[in-house]
Amino acid sequence: MQKPRGTEDLFELKARDFFALEMIIRHVVDLYNYKEIRTPIFEMAELFKKSAGVNTDVVAKEMYIFNDKKNREFALRPEGTAPVVRAVLENKLYIEEKLPLKLFYFGQMFRYERPQNGRKRQFYQFGVELIGPDSIEADTEILCLAVNVLNSLGLQNYKVYINYLVIKEAREKYILDLKKQLSNLKLCDDCNLRIISNPLRILDCKIDQHKFNDLINMKEYLTNEQKQYYLNLIKSLNNLEIKVIEDNLLVRGLDYYTGFVFEIKDENGITLVGGGRYNNLVGELGGNNLPACGFAFGVERLITALENKKISISQLAYLDAYILAISERAKTFSSILLLMLRSAGFRTDYNFMNKNIKSAFKYSEKLNAKNIIIIGDKELNEGIVIIKEQDKKNEIKVKFEEIVTHISRSGEK
Ligand code: AMP
Repeated sequence: MQKPRGTEDLFELKARDFFALEMIIRHVVDLYNYKEIRTPIFEMAELFKKSAGVNTDVVAKEMYIFNDKKNREFALRPEGTAPVVRAVLENKLYIEEKLPLKLFYFGQMFRYERPQNGRKRQFYQFGVELIGPDSIEADTEILCLAVNVLNSLGLQNYKVYINYLVIKEAREKYILDLKKQLSNLKLCDDCNLRIISNPLRILDCKIDQHKFNDLINMKEYLTNEQKQYYLNLIKSLNNLEIKVIEDNLLVRGLDYYTGFVFEIKDENGITLVGGGRYNNLVGELGGNNLPACGFAFGVERLITALENKKISISQLAYLDAYILAISERAKTFSSILLLMLRSAGFRTDYNFMNKNIKSAFKYSEKLNAKNIIIIGDKELNEGIVIIKEQDKKNEIKVKFEEIVTHISRSGEK
């Protein structure tokens, strides 16, 4: 038996990396006051058809669809925004007093794609949705948050691409003009199909994109008000020293975007996060319309970007103390010591496998223990323990009653 193609078993270092990454991300979203929302891993397939759009690759080609015993059509979620909006409507979270809704999610998504580097069939996304405001400050906040996540991870060499999508009648007019221009170009097989089903998506075709430099710019179809909004948004981002690159061909793969869109790529050109404004989705899914914006990061791609830069995120996952008892009496005492340190809020572990001192030291290094607490009969009799401070490469004797204070001081620095 083997795992399905495009999926991954996570264990040891990789599982720890995921955990550490999630903790850092949770810390950053907390600074911005976003609250977690967890939605089911499967939803009615109709939800994604209505939101992401039946002609998008995600919905038309990549959904894992199944019928249940009552023949209802479900899909493993391919993305997180539509389920969040569905949950907001179903749980009536949209009432005036609760707005704005600042929500984040962290979970698996499923897409039947050709597995390759950075493209999986099951992958994790971390995303945020800011529902309620329709403003430059809101757009600025989500982009700032995305950038903040990358900075906190030490991934500073990114590029931020932005665009403003034309909507409604102006979009229809633009698409007509675009089709005329595209009909003069020789396109790949996929794009020849998309010209009917989803012409905007042709713009981000990796094969044909080099032919598009002279195409009409969709921003020429924006109203003056929209153009001004876009310029003011760029100004607002520049004020925060967020450098943006305008990309007229950036369209994103899901149909619900209605204006400002962005992607952030790492130095190898891999898209780490994508998002933007989707002002009609809440209305389209059956609610009173509420403007919204959001983004989603690919978590595996963040991990790969960190690996490429040799940033060891799991080093951030550490033990405050590892206890090594070297006599029978000391073992009994260890349980009290473990309870004491854990109650004081220290991440603590114990030599449960009874490894000899040398192997236990090695093991504690793997756990990235900041302090190794050694205790035997002699120490018990003297009312002390020996603490090996790994960072300072120092060994000291500490009285029982001073252990907690000592460990908390070692965490300062
Ligand atoms: P999207 O939901 O298509 O806007 O994608 C948001 C982010 O999710 C992308 O920028 C990627 O980082 C990540 N992502 C999308 N599809 C995949 C996939 N098949 N495998 C891994 N990551 C993905």
